[in-house]
Amino acid sequence: MSKDILFLAEFAGGKPARSALELATGAAELATQSGGAAVALAYGPGAADGAAGLGAHGTARAIVLGDEDRPAVTYVPAAVAAVRDGDALAVLAPATPNGRDLAAALVGSVHLPAFGPVRTARVVDGVLETEQATLQGSVITTARPADGAPAPSVALVLANTFTPAEGGTGSAEVSEAPEAAESAFSKATVAESHPAEAKVVNLEEATVIVAGGRGVGSEDGFGPLRDLAAALGGAVGASRAAADAGWIPYQLQIGQTGKVVKPALYIGAGISGAIQHRVGMQTAEHVIAINRDPDAPIGEFADLFVVGDLFQIVPALTDEIKRRRSG
Ligand SMILES: Cc1cc2nc3c(=O)[nH]c(=O)nc-3n(C[C@H](O)[C@H](O)[C@H](O)COP(=O)(O)OP(=O)(O)OC[C@H]3O[C@@H](n4cnc5c(N)ncnc54)[C@H](O)[C@@H]3O)c2cc1C
Repeated sequence: MSKDILFLAEFAGGKPARSALELATGAAELATQSGGAAVALAYGPGAADGAAGLGAHGTARAIVLGDEDRPAVTYVPAAVAAVRDGDALAVLAPATPNGRDLAAALVGSVHLPAFGPVRTARVVDGVLETEQATLQGSVITTARPADGAPAPSVALVLANTFTPAEGGTGSAEVSEAPEAAESAFSKATVAESHPAEAKVVNLEEATVIVAGGRGVGSEDGFGPLRDLAAALGGAVGASRAAADAGWIPYQLQIGQTGKVVKPALYIGAGISGAIQHRVGMQTAEHVIAINRDPDAPIGEFADLFVVGDLFQIVPALTDEIKRRRSG
C-alpha cells in the first residue's frame, strides 16, 4: 500500500535551512520506495512563501505549520495534527537542536516508534529501515519498527545523510496545517538568548575543511590551519582531543560526538584518525592527512598521506596556494 513520507522542513531568514533541502531529497527518495509522496511539514520564518519551492527538490505537498520566529516546540500541536490527519509511513526529522526538540515531542505526543540519529534510511517490505552507529561508531545497527507498531516511524537524520538534489523546477502544493488544540508546547517562549561566544562556522555546509588535532599543540597552533582554511575558502574543524584541551570551541568538533561533515576536501593535521573521529568525516570526497607518524591510522584511509611536521607543511601549502592564486 502506498504511503507518504513526511519530513520536517525548517525555514530561517525567509529560506529553507540546508537540512530541509537534504530531507526533501531523502523523503523523495523514500517516497519512490513506499509508492507515496514526499510531504513537507514546513515551519519558521519564510515557510508560508517558501514551502512551494521545496517542489524543486521532489516535494509533492507542503503543510505549513507556522511562519513565525518562535521556538520549534510551539509547532508541535500543528505537527501532531498533520501527522494524525495523514497516513504516512515515516517522518524524517533533522538531527539539529530544533529538529530533535520537535521530533521528541512528536514521538511522545503521538506515541510513535523512534530511531536515530541515523545515517541511512530506506523503505524495506513496507516499513522504514534505518542504520545507526553504536558502540562508539564501531558497530552499525539496522533497525525497523516492531510488528504492529504504530505508524509513522520517526527518524532523526544526521546532517549530510542525503545530498540536496539540484536543478529541479517543480512546485509543491501548499496547504495549512489542520486545526490544532492548544497544548503546553504552544506556550513555550524564549526567556533569554545569548550570541555564541565564538564565531561559529557551519561545518556541515563547508566544502573545504582544515581540521586540527592534539598534534596542533595549543590554541595558537591553530593559526596556520586558519590561514590554510582562509586560502582555500574553507572552515576550520577539530578532533575531540583539541576541543577537550580548550584550543577550539566544541561546535567545531568533528566525529561521533561532534559534527558529521561531508566536504569535497578534508585536510586533517595532527589527527591520528580514531574511529570516533573517522565516523564524522569518512564521507568527505577527498581526504588529505598530515601527520609526523607514518603509522598513524588516518594514513590507512587518507587519499593522500603526507608524513611530516604540520608546522612546516601547512604554512608551505598555504604559501603555495596563495602563490598559484596570485599568479
Ligand atoms: C565515546 C567517545 C566519543 C568520542 N567522540 C569523538 C569525536 O566526536 N571526535 C573525535 O575527534 N574524537 C572523539 N573521541 C576521542 C577519540 O577516541 C580520540 O581520542 C581523538 O579523536 C584523538 O584526537 P587526535 O587525533 O587529535 O589526538 P591523538 O590521537 O593524540 O593524535 C594526535 C596525532 O598528532 C600527530 N602529531 C603530533 N604532533 C604533530 C606534528 N607536529 N605534526 C604532524 N603530526 C603531529 C601524532 O602523530 C598523532 O597521530 C571520542 C571518544 C569516545 C570514547
